[in-house]
Amino acid sequence: MKRYDVVVIGAGAAGLMCAIMAAKRGRSVLILDKAAKVAEKIRISGGGRCNFTNLDVTPDNFISQNKHFCKSALAGFNQWDFIDWVVQAGIEYHEREHGQLFCDQSAKDIIKMLLDKCDGYGVQIEVGIEVESIEKGEGFQLATNLGDFQCQSLVIATGALSIPKMGATGFGFQVARQFGLNVVETRPGLVPFTFTGKEKDASKELAGISLPVIVSLVENKAAPRFKDAMLFTHRGLSGPAILQISSYWQPGQSIRINLIPDLDLVQFIEEQVKERPQALLSTVLSACLAKRLVSLLSLSFEMNIKVQSLSEKDVLGLKDFLEAWQIKPSSTEGYRTAEVTVGGVDTAELDSKTMQSKKVDGLYFIGEVVDVTGHLGGFNFQWAWSSGFAAGNGV
Ligand SMILES: Cc1cc2nc3c(=O)[nH]c(=O)nc-3n(C[C@H](O)[C@H](O)[C@H](O)COP(=O)(O)OP(=O)(O)OC[C@H]3O[C@@H](n4cnc5c(N)ncnc54)[C@H](O)[C@@H]3O)c2cc1C
Repeated sequence: MKRYDVVVIGAGAAGLMCAIMAAKRGRSVLILDKAAKVAEKIRISGGGRCNFTNLDVTPDNFISQNKHFCKSALAGFNQWDFIDWVVQAGIEYHEREHGQLFCDQSAKDIIKMLLDKCDGYGVQIEVGIEVESIEKGEGFQLATNLGDFQCQSLVIATGALSIPKMGATGFGFQVARQFGLNVVETRPGLVPFTFTGKEKDASKELAGISLPVIVSLVENKAAPRFKDAMLFTHRGLSGPAILQISSYWQPGQSIRINLIPDLDLVQFIEEQVKERPQALLSTVLSACLAKRLVSLLSLSFEMNIKVQSLSEKDVLGLKDFLEAWQIKPSSTEGYRTAEVTVGGVDTAELDSKTMQSKKVDGLYFIGEVVDVTGHLGGFNFQWAWSSGFAAGNGV
């Protein structure tokens, strides 16, 4: 049986970070991953450019049953610490809107940086490994298809359920349950909404249209509002604003969409009445909304009316409609396309400074498997780096 100080299961963002920090402290570290290649989610992230962190990371950017849990880890290794690593590795990057940082060239640069560090500190990595069982005695005994391993500290960094096509499994949750840890109910997050019936037909007609919106949840006033782009798809709604609110959405809830967040409709119509009183409402609205959207709106509003003939009540009715369009998604695209899993190993079970289980000495959970889920914008990787760093210094 091979012995290590630390075995990390999962060679994704969190697992690699943890292994690097543990090995840097002189621990012997083995990472086991069942996939043929490590860090596949980093490779595909951010459209291949990896949105590796955000300039403005706060605890408010994370969803968890305990919103304070992430604070300690985020403070221990923050976005600037990771940016330092990126700079020192000579990786060029750029900022996009909302403080999101992306590699100029490729997400593979981030993977290479992490693997170079693993190499430098002597981390051993084995891929294509199936962990068949985990027993706790003096440390942990792992039975795998490539033989047995023993370790003092075991770190579960296997991610969660999003994108099963890439090998996502509930393995981390099974381990948590095996050792008596609670798992907060999971659901897909950062995922497009789908519709059925006439709403689906309308989406199909509008597919491809993207517009800035503010989106919120009708039944959950505590959830944040997101101002960003929304995209109509053949099946429903997508785009960053929709992905963000989807992480807060529960089946049966409606979403409220402000379709004209940057337009004062009353003032706009007043100006149009002065400039072109004979113009039809449909024509003037087409100046600020996609034509196909305006023609769909004509099912609910009389659009073939001259702007000068609109009453104050008409304008206010239209304003209310455009600023507070309510729609109830029938579902989401599910884990098949979800970027993250909301929920996971209950933070009440873990020490926020080290990610160690409070019940089981030497057992750690990091990254997406934990009930800490970031908003869109580089926050999920920052959680992986920060929680991985915390555990790497604890094991
Ligand atoms: C399409 C897409 C794009 C994304 N883009 C971004 C982005 O730009 N910015 C951002 O912040 N976040 C992004 N995310 C989210 C981000 O990828 C995850 O939050 C992050 O990868 C989680 O890191 P992790 O190390 O916890 O898990 P993962 O990266 O999922 O790594 C888990 C590892 O464990 C291995 N594993 C799983 N089960 C087992 C098992 N039974 N035995 C052994 N090994 C196992 C897997 O093969 C994998 O290598 C994106 C997600 C997706 C799906």
